[in-house]
Amino acid sequence: MLEGVLGRARFLIVDDEASNVRLLERLLELSKSGPVFSTTDPRRALSLFLSEQPDIVLLDLHMPYVDGFSLISQIKAALPACQYLPILVLTADVTPETRQRALGKGAHDFLTKPLDPDEVLVRIRNLLETRFLHLELQRQNDALERQVAERTAELEHTLERLQATQEQLVKQERLRALGMMASGIAHDFNNALTLILGHGELLRAYFESDVPAREREQFRLLMTAADDASHVVARLRDFYRPADQDELRVPVDVNLAIQQALVLTAPRWREECRAEGVQIHVETELAPVPTFLGHPPEFREVLTNLIFNAVDAMPTGGTLRFVTSCEDGQIHVRVQDTGVGMTEEESSRCLEPFFTTKGEQGTGLGLAAVYGFVQRYGGSVGIESRKGQGAVFTLALPASRGPGQEVQVPREVAVLPLRVLVVDDQEIIRHIISEMLQADGHFALPLADGVEVLRELAAGHWDVIISDQSMPRMTGAQLAAEVRALGVRVPIILLTGFGDEMRVKGGTPPGVDLLLSKPLTARGLREALKTVAALVPAR
Ligand code: ADP
Ligand code: MG
Repeated sequence: MLEGVLGRARFLIVDDEASNVRLLERLLELSKSGPVFSTTDPRRALSLFLSEQPDIVLLDLHMPYVDGFSLISQIKAALPACQYLPILVLTADVTPETRQRALGKGAHDFLTKPLDPDEVLVRIRNLLETRFLHLELQRQNDALERQVAERTAELEHTLERLQATQEQLVKQERLRALGMMASGIAHDFNNALTLILGHGELLRAYFESDVPAREREQFRLLMTAADDASHVVARLRDFYRPADQDELRVPVDVNLAIQQALVLTAPRWREECRAEGVQIHVETELAPVPTFLGHPPEFREVLTNLIFNAVDAMPTGGTLRFVTSCEDGQIHVRVQDTGVGMTEEESSRCLEPFFTTKGEQGTGLGLAAVYGFVQRYGGSVGIESRKGQGAVFTLALPASRGPGQEVQVPREVAVLPLRVLVVDDQEIIRHIISEMLQADGHFALPLADGVEVLRELAAGHWDVIISDQSMPRMTGAQLAAEVRALGVRVPIILLTGFGDEMRVKGGTPPGVDLLLSKPLTARGLREALKTVAALVPAR
């Protein structure tokens, strides 16, 4: 490193005697030194120093206008404190006072005139070696400081991540503990409710006979309360139920589910809000994304819960926005609203069962169920919200296929999609039928009994009803009669089991357009719909 220090250095010579300057220039030139700048006018010295940035200054002391002492001070003032810039004083005045004064100002070494060339070179070289060592040290220091700063930033980042992970873990653990507690409570309550409802059913005939009206009403209230409670328990189950290995999982088309959930909830966010003079805009930005393995009706319920919460959060209207995307093998579903938002406390607790800010109106079970479902699919729920600034719920779901194999965004189906009410008291059957219809591009709403069908018919437009025959409260045939009595012309397909005596009797009940026997196949269902399609009343 110290090899050829003269060759690497830049020099500044300040001396009012031109012959001295020339001598030094010649000496340096012969020693193959780096660039040499010089002046005989000390008033130019500082600007030359600043513009040429020398590594050493050779300076005369006694000069007109500005003497060497002031120049040393000026140069020192122009340098950063930590810089070592050697100043070599050339003087004929060798009194101890002069030396001391120059050293006091910041000179580093002396040469007495007349100059001895060998000594000049040795002193210059010594000073330059120190200068370059200083520079190298400074370079290493800077590099070290940079490394320390980078490392500190990295550590801070890691710490932040750790803290976030820890918070997440605590939250997960809290939810897990709540889940266990909920499952215990639900189990005991379920047993009690089963007893209450079971004995209640046995007593129903008695209370519906000739007991006083007040007792009948008390019995009705009791049964309704027990029924409501059993619904709460059932919903609680959605939160804590562990993933079941045998659970039937099919690829779920996320974009389709969003569109269906929006149709399904339209009466709430469109009609109900409009009736109250409030407007909710719904926007979708659905990218082609892969499917995930799950249960389509369950997933629609997840979306429905999020939609209802968003609507609740926008009592004076606003925008509800769905965005789907695929990131790192995960499907992201963002559900964003411009509503009232949540405080930090609310957003950290909103997934807990029974956490609600809606008082009597809320159950606090919607998001707990969302969390439960998404957990079972191997996904996660992200929440971003500020009070007064809306909320964003992001569901991250593991894609069931490799990236690149994407499901197309559903377009308008070529055949006219039908809106079908599916009623069967067996949950699994009505869901399977609904899935078959949805796979063909229709919209299906599974319902548990005839009363719900009548309610849906009154509330909106439907194209076809597919009904099971044997149902406890109202049979399919009775339902058909009721529908016709209301003057509704929607075609009705009646599903009959193997043992249904009606088939043996051979007659198609009044109001029914087509009989279809179980077990049902997708093909049979398609044929049946084709048959009745002509009967669908115009919208
Ligand atoms: P519920 O709707 O019955 O209150 P949820 O579990 O669905 O129960 O929601 C729990 C709580 O989370 C709500 O009471 C509300 O405080 C908060 N919350 C949920 N979604 C939103 C949202 N989109 N905007 C603001 N707050 C919300
Ligand atoms: Mg809710």
